[in-house]
Amino acid sequence: MIATPNDRFPDPLLGEFTFVGRSNVGKSSLLNALLGKKVAFVSKNPGKTKTINYFKVNGKFYFVDLPGYGYARTSKKDREEWRKIIERYFSERSWNMKLLFSLIDSRHELMESDEQLLEWLQILGISPVVLLTKTDKLSSNELNKQISYFKRVLSEYGVEKIIPCSSLSKEGIEDVWKVIVEALQN
Ligand code: GDP
Repeated sequence: MIATPNDRFPDPLLGEFTFVGRSNVGKSSLLNALLGKKVAFVSKNPGKTKTINYFKVNGKFYFVDLPGYGYARTSKKDREEWRKIIERYFSERSWNMKLLFSLIDSRHELMESDEQLLEWLQILGISPVVLLTKTDKLSSNELNKQISYFKRVLSEYGVEKIIPCSSLSKEGIEDVWKVIVEALQN
């Protein structure tokens, strides 16, 4: 794992798959579930990590773990710092991205911070794959309702692909790998 000091990114010799989402959305757990081992730190301190972590996968590509946003108790200074890191990543490095995975908690409605990110991505012309997390916490009925809701609201941001996921039940993990493999073939 390479934790970049935020003023340097690793050499872009390999493509990258980037993961972004609100603090506590389940991003670290999902990275661990995808890789089948504990690589990302499941945090007890939401909103605290502000480095960009690069995980080299099979020597072939990177998983990029961007710091979580939107934690209620972060200070204005912390939010500014987050914004700087993220803006820099997207302006200087997103060209090396094969796909962006935007993680959203399946149980809730879209939050203002999610909307801000999605609006900004739309301006940048980046269409993320949305991963709806923690689906094990919903009944199948509730989940279907949430999927319809997210399909409707996310289409307004140009999102074309939504994958329901759970790090606990492992729902969606194979589907995420499928889109990664497809992206690598393009
Ligand atoms: P991050 O801040 O986005 O990296 O989120 P974490 O992976 O640290 O997870 C935040 C909390 O949600 C932790 O208590 C996890 O155990 C829990 N969590 C994460 N993913 C899942 C999931 O798929 N199902 C359930 N039930 N809990 C989850």
